[in-house]
Amino acid sequence: PTGRIVKALSGYYYVQPDDETQEEWITCRARGLFKKKGLSPLVGDQVTYELSNETEGTVTEIKLPRKSELVRPPMANAEVAVLVFSVTEPSLNLQLLDKFLVHIESAGLDALICLTKSDLANEEEQACYEQAEQLYRQIGYDVYVTSSKEGTGVAAIHQALEGKIGVFAGQSGVGKSSLLNCLLPGLNLETNAISQKLGRGKHTTRHVELIPLPGQAWMADTPGFSQLDFMQVEAEELSGCFPEFRALAASCKFRGCQHNGEPKCQVMNAVEQGEVSRSRYDHYLYFLQEIKDKKRRY
Ligand code: GDP
Ligand code: ZN
Repeated sequence: PTGRIVKALSGYYYVQPDDETQEEWITCRARGLFKKKGLSPLVGDQVTYELSNETEGTVTEIKLPRKSELVRPPMANAEVAVLVFSVTEPSLNLQLLDKFLVHIESAGLDALICLTKSDLANEEEQACYEQAEQLYRQIGYDVYVTSSKEGTGVAAIHQALEGKIGVFAGQSGVGKSSLLNCLLPGLNLETNAISQKLGRGKHTTRHVELIPLPGQAWMADTPGFSQLDFMQVEAEELSGCFPEFRALAASCKFRGCQHNGEPKCQVMNAVEQGEVSRSRYDHYLYFLQEIKDKKRRY
């Protein structure tokens, strides 16, 4: 039979069978041959397993290639990162948002930007998030304005997650857990169980568990992209992580142009013309410097 690893803990893999009549997880060990190949099963992996009795078995095969592979939290096949940013408390930090987006682009996931706590925004904060909404939509990102308190915008996110494995990302306190609770059907029992799991997840990131949402979607209970240093991103790669720079960069005069003072740079030109947002470009330059400083130090 086949299934999906939904939880991994102390050498055990908990597999949710694909056979929908089979509700119980199968507790599995992994075949030793994976270790030999330097491959270890991850939460999110689609696997084949052998049963040794009704509820226990062995993972015999991992479906490769994986759609993606994350290190923190360790999980496979995530397709979408839900980037949670509150419009207030804490206030909207666009530099941090751009930093998350770079990491998500670099990991090859789709980003879904979620601006939370809209019910708390004053006029000024509302103007601010509406401007951000427009900017990021123009770049091509999906942006949702939500309130977990009022339940607004949650259905749209649900729809966007359908059939996918997702992971939340965002600072603590922005409302990730509240949003996850909103995304689950209103069964009190389930919601309580989930918050308990989340409570544990908040304090230890040693393991990750996928929570099933209706519509064949899965959401990791542990936030991802927590380590936002640029160790994994090279300076040459950075420009490619800004989708609106990509097409322009092809017509820069120099191949490998870093859009940092080179003559006849199309990206800088577009910033001058107001076609590329100055805030996005400033953040790009800031990250570029950060990457170079890091390289010098190590
Ligand atoms: P996390 O650390 O990202 O998981 O954030 P939480 O979900 O724990 O939320 C942090 C605080 O913000 C809690 O006190 C929540 O009740 C509150 N909160 C979260 N979302 C909303 C929202 O949409 N509206 C309001 N008014 N409060 C919210
Ligand atoms: Zn350039």
